[in-house]
Amino acid sequence: MENMESIKNLTPEDLREAVKSCGEPAFRAKQIERWLWRGLAGSFDEMTDLSKGLREKLGQTHNVDALTLDKEIKSSDGSRKFIFNLYDGAKIESVLIPADGLRTLCVSSQCGCALACGFCLTGRRGLIRNLTAGEILDQIILARRALGPDDALTNIVMMGMGEPLMNFDSVAQALKAITGEFGMGMSYRRITVSTSGIIRKMGDFGRLGLAKLAVSLNSPDNEIRSQIMPVNKKNPLPDLMAACRRHPLRPRERITFEYVMLDGVNDAESDARALAALVADIPCKINLIPFNEFPGAKYKTPPADRVDKFRRVLLNNNIDALVRQSRGADISAACGCLGGE
Ligand code: SF4
Repeated sequence: MENMESIKNLTPEDLREAVKSCGEPAFRAKQIERWLWRGLAGSFDEMTDLSKGLREKLGQTHNVDALTLDKEIKSSDGSRKFIFNLYDGAKIESVLIPADGLRTLCVSSQCGCALACGFCLTGRRGLIRNLTAGEILDQIILARRALGPDDALTNIVMMGMGEPLMNFDSVAQALKAITGEFGMGMSYRRITVSTSGIIRKMGDFGRLGLAKLAVSLNSPDNEIRSQIMPVNKKNPLPDLMAACRRHPLRPRERITFEYVMLDGVNDAESDARALAALVADIPCKINLIPFNEFPGAKYKTPPADRVDKFRRVLLNNNIDALVRQSRGADISAACGCLGGE
């Protein structure tokens, strides 16, 4: 891929300016947006309702695609991992998870991650760089191309590589294109952004109102959470819970709390009782995710009966809780395992 900026990195305003600077009326920008987000065009030549002159001028300064598909790996459980090349040679991953009649794409927001959560392989590699809006969006576009028209994506979760709120501007720009009338037109109800708890950005995310919130919680105890997730030292649990209580929710909307269960660390019945008390006044559901072991991991997967007991304590305290078995474990696509190919 020649090293030019992808046109998918442009905001709608920037795109209008780019079109005008080519001597064309601004409404052509809407045609281009339709080709990018609905038509899944991979080249300017496919945009057949634009003049040849405009296509050539845009092609001199911009690429269409921000990513190239390096390879796709299929799991025995139906999950599909997409590995993409960035223009600078780095790689990122997305995972398609078909389940319960839904086709959910787990999208990355950064290449690597600086936050070093102890249960996460991505965090071990450190942060390489933030993704651009075009690189976030192209994970969706290239997955849709691979799926074909009969297998449309139903849901998007930003839970892949990276901490979305540490790349807020690009994530916000991408969410506008995903939900926009002239973008992909998806409902915010089908999009979830998961944070490890970057409190200073949670207010901005709530005001944006373009996706549902998930929070990676993992312990009801401030000190244990700091041991599992260093990000908790600067974003302590009491302040994080206060930010969750302030988060604006629409009718019937709930916050999802992700809870990676670590053998002997956060999986006792007393932890479940403390967790139930912690979230009791927040409209929420809890996803319990038994830890996926990887080589060199310092944690172990808890036994299934302990996971069941933990869930029952939550249910008995009127907290909605599901056990989420990670998908794609055989292709290193399970939760916390991206970037480990
Ligand atoms: S779990 Fe998320 S925030 Fe934590 S290190 Fe992994 S990618 Fe980063």
